[in-house]
Amino acid sequence: MPEQLHSIKIDEGRCVGCITCMKACPTKAIRVRNRKAVIIGERCIDCGECFRVCPHRAVTPLTTSASDLEAFKMTIALPSPVLYSQFGRNAMPNEILLALKTIGFSYVFDEAWLCEMVTTAIEEYLETQDGPRPLISSTCPAVVRLIAMRYPNLLPLIIPIDAPREVAAKRYRTMKGNKHGLSPKEIGVIHITPCPAKMISINRPLGTDKSHLDGAISIRDIYGPILTVLKDLDEDMIIQQSSGVGIGWAMTGGEIRGLNMDTCLAVSGVQDVMTILDDVEAGKLKGIDYLECLICPDGCIGGPLTVENRHLAKNRVETLVKMFGEKTRVSRELVKRQYKAGFFSLKQQLEASPLPPLDPDQTKAIEKARERKEIVQKLPGTDCGACGAPDCRTLAEDVVLGHALLSDCPFMESKNDVLKSSGCHPKTRK
Ligand code: SF4
Ligand code: SF4
Repeated sequence: MPEQLHSIKIDEGRCVGCITCMKACPTKAIRVRNRKAVIIGERCIDCGECFRVCPHRAVTPLTTSASDLEAFKMTIALPSPVLYSQFGRNAMPNEILLALKTIGFSYVFDEAWLCEMVTTAIEEYLETQDGPRPLISSTCPAVVRLIAMRYPNLLPLIIPIDAPREVAAKRYRTMKGNKHGLSPKEIGVIHITPCPAKMISINRPLGTDKSHLDGAISIRDIYGPILTVLKDLDEDMIIQQSSGVGIGWAMTGGEIRGLNMDTCLAVSGVQDVMTILDDVEAGKLKGIDYLECLICPDGCIGGPLTVENRHLAKNRVETLVKMFGEKTRVSRELVKRQYKAGFFSLKQQLEASPLPPLDPDQTKAIEKARERKEIVQKLPGTDCGACGAPDCRTLAEDVVLGHALLSDCPFMESKNDVLKSSGCHPKTRK
């Protein structure tokens, strides 16, 4: 499968330069130049907001396709618990898992059960490890990237416990490889994903040098084939292992549901996540031990690659949680043993990836910051986006960095005069 630097790309042919994505991007990673959106790679956290809002379907998620699976002798599917919420009130989790197997995977495992194991491992970590609080979940790859870029001081607070999809992939690749005498490369372990961010956590993982997964197929792509098979299912094997504790991970609050602690908080949606991280950075979150942060609204059920209306999906998850109970089905003793053996641990420290300074030379950077301030004062302050940058301050920064011109702002009264006084000559533009 080709390696991608990001999990989405802009289709120039479809893009009309409407700036909707640029205004929605939480990290100001998009500019519109010559009526086409462009992503600045170092600013993108793969949150998928641009994909969610583009009215012209010009943002494409780069997920795994069915033909990519042909490279493997054996395939293992690990569906996000979100999949159980996508097929209405009559489809049960075990039937959905069976349908997934019927459409051609060699094996299908219930990732929700691994969610339960990870819940217990987190509980074990919180009970046995002292240190600063609140600790922050490592599950959402977009949140981890957001922290690495905008809140690098908070990186040590990310709990060094791997996400359930990774733990599951490691477990089942080893198990099936040993059983069938296959090398790890001959087995394709595929996550069924509600969001494109999982793809980037596979291609460019943080906290480890290599993901245990080989790819991620979007729920949107696999929904139709599953639905077709569900209608005529002729299998009766039991695959589902999870209780409501694992299934609940599909939505906000699911991860902390199984932790027996009142001092946990769940936050979802990119703006609320940034607000709570601002508060953590400012030391305002006293008395909270654990923070579940998910970039999509209402958690993974709000992922942009889902099919079902997220409010209906939420209702379905709540029903399934009640149906399968809030008592975990995993053995605490087994998890404790595996936890002590490091089975759940992230292998490496998470590294910060802050945006580069205005200039590598500190004196020049200070000078450029001054220039930026001056330019901001000259701009109208309407943050309209007509210049192709998301707001006036970002345009000023782009001008200072030589990536844009003041004349890109259509509201400047006398562009030539301003250009002259700011020293920003057109030839400096990249
Ligand atoms: S939302 Fe962005 S990618 Fe979509 S058409 Fe508008 S500018 Fe282009
Ligand atoms: S994926 Fe998110 S961070 Fe990246 S360009 Fe789109 S909206 Fe911005």
